[in-house]
Amino acid sequence: MGNKKLAIINGRRVLVDATTRIRQDSDREYNQARNQKQSDYIKFYHSTEWSHTREQVLTRDNGMCQRCGLAATLVDHIIPSEDDWDNRLDQDNLQSLCRDCHYWKTRRETIKRKKGLTRAMTITVLAGYPGSGKSTYVTDHAGPHDLIYDYDRLMAALTGQPMHQGNIDVNDYIQLIYEMLLRKLKAEQTFANVWIVLTYPDDKLDSLLASQDVRHIMLDTSRDECIQRLNHDKRDVVQLLKVLDKIDKLKSESKFDKFKIVSNEKRKNNSNFSFK
Ligand SMILES: [Zn+2]
Repeated sequence: MGNKKLAIINGRRVLVDATTRIRQDSDREYNQARNQKQSDYIKFYHSTEWSHTREQVLTRDNGMCQRCGLAATLVDHIIPSEDDWDNRLDQDNLQSLCRDCHYWKTRRETIKRKKGLTRAMTITVLAGYPGSGKSTYVTDHAGPHDLIYDYDRLMAALTGQPMHQGNIDVNDYIQLIYEMLLRKLKAEQTFANVWIVLTYPDDKLDSLLASQDVRHIMLDTSRDECIQRLNHDKRDVVQLLKVLDKIDKLKSESKFDKFKIVSNEKRKNNSNFSFK
């Protein structure tokens, strides 16, 4: 072993060969950036805005931990502030937690970060006519690292009822899941694909997920074929015709312009078969 010397690289003390030249400039830049980030942090958590916001969130949550219901002792960023620094005072992203629940949440986040579970994630928004085969299209195309939001399937799962026979009172709960999902997806890179099945385009989704890779598609199933299918499946066609009309109206107002039309071949073959 040759001569060694002690050097500080990226803020860590390490032993290196005595002949190694240390790139002190880049090291200095790194340390400056790190110190700046840390001091922004400390400033923020000591600021009046934060202590006001913190009090408001604790009051809003009745001083209860939003995970376990025990007394809350701190206010947590649902999406960590370091991932979404600009929205660090957004109350929709804040929740009261007790110390234990906060510990476990932070631990999960750290493990996830260390594992480097990141993928080139694509979010596909699939909208259009009821009966056009959206749910089937998604299950035909989804893979093992995907996340699916599908209103009809969630309704069936949450009510234990067959598809399309939900309970309208559960609607609010599905809406809550949808909103939380969008908020979390904003800083997510865990999935290969995220599939969001909607009826109408959603501007809120588009603005919330503006930083993500989002594509919009609709199926080429014709209006007549959809109506035929809805009748065949004994759905409430009178009610659903209003939905079809609204979609046609939105189309005429260019609200579907960014949706790329994709072929629904597989479904078509199946439906031809079942109608023969
Ligand atoms: Zn708790």
